[in-house]
Amino acid sequence: MAKHSDRNRVVESGVTGCDLRTDDRNSLIPLGSTLGMLGGGQIGGFFAESALRFGYKVAVWDPSPNAPAKRYASVAFDAPFDDPDTLTKFADVSDCASLEWENIPVSLTNALEKIIRVRPGSKSLGLAQDRTQEKQFLTENHIPVTKYAVIENPSELGGVQLELPWIVKTATLGYDGHGQWRISNSRDIADIQDVLKGNGPWVVEQVVPFKIELSVVVGYDGGTKLVHFPPTENIHENGILRISISPARISSEVERRAEDLAQEVIKNIGEPGVFCVEMFLLENEDLLVNEIAPRPHNSGHHTIDTFTVSQYELQIRALTGLPLVTPQQITSSVLLNVLGDEYTNLTDLYTTTSILQNQSARIYSYGKQDVRPGRKMGHILFNGPSQGDLLSEALETHKILTK
Ligand code: AMP
Repeated sequence: MAKHSDRNRVVESGVTGCDLRTDDRNSLIPLGSTLGMLGGGQIGGFFAESALRFGYKVAVWDPSPNAPAKRYASVAFDAPFDDPDTLTKFADVSDCASLEWENIPVSLTNALEKIIRVRPGSKSLGLAQDRTQEKQFLTENHIPVTKYAVIENPSELGGVQLELPWIVKTATLGYDGHGQWRISNSRDIADIQDVLKGNGPWVVEQVVPFKIELSVVVGYDGGTKLVHFPPTENIHENGILRISISPARISSEVERRAEDLAQEVIKNIGEPGVFCVEMFLLENEDLLVNEIAPRPHNSGHHTIDTFTVSQYELQIRALTGLPLVTPQQITSSVLLNVLGDEYTNLTDLYTTTSILQNQSARIYSYGKQDVRPGRKMGHILFNGPSQGDLLSEALETHKILTK
């Protein structure tokens, strides 16, 4: 496989490793090569599991020694992401790299891109990790978004000219509802100003009364080939994804518009990889893009079981240059996330067996050692032909796990 010492060599078959001088869109990364993964959570874990099935090896870099994806890694690195020696070692063992978390430092992907192929690359990562840049990019490309303002300082909050209520979001490092505050009326402004302190800038968004939240996962080869999954319908609780329903309960006309919008966003970014575009469907059927994830998404885990090709397989194909194919749905699904302490309830043998008595249920545990409130510890997938039944089963299980 391509290593530093032979990286500039074209292998005999005419297929190159990660040689930057020959790394064009069509060069293939042969089976048996090592795929690098930045971040070691459940998304990196599902990527790694799929990569092993293809016949690749995986190198995982995550500062947490117990990161779930490391269970599948032939090489693992525990250093902080700004460690230069680990950068060299990671690039040395990896023939190319992808990522599973939008807070991987752009300085790291920038440096890695000079040595190996990184998909998706620094442009999409930069957009996804800074809400101000993301909103500006979407607006410049005529993609509809919620009305918003950017403030550098909490004192500017009083001057925001948007109809209330608002959500204030940190521009960087927010996730799962962290770094977000609701302002329902003008009396809340002073309280939130006190909370914000000095970690700006912030994006202030008008709260939209959406009907449904949707996510569309798109795979792109960086050239002419774009493929997508049909929209998934997402239900959040306290800003955390709780339930994902596939296919979303929307008309075929909305489905087509959501898919077109997601593809338009990814074409405008122009980088190969797998992305998720999250959006709001309003009462009047307008769609607004909320955010872009430069990676497979937690609302797409069901694709492992219910599509002809999963979002992780597409991530591997987009990374290695193997053909992107259009995913075909085999059956419907409802995915229930298991958060924090609910995982302890799930591991109670009586609960585990009663859930698994249902032949449509599959339990996925992510292998996270620390249980923290709201942390995604696993999910239960209900799949089968009757979406109504699956949803009832998921809601019943939600009740059992949260009681
Ligand atoms: P985000 O981190 O931007 O994905 O926000 C987390 C969740 O908060 C979203 O999935 C929505 O449920 C809710 N949310 C975020 N922004 C808005 C908005 N402008 N209007 C209404 N709900 C929102």
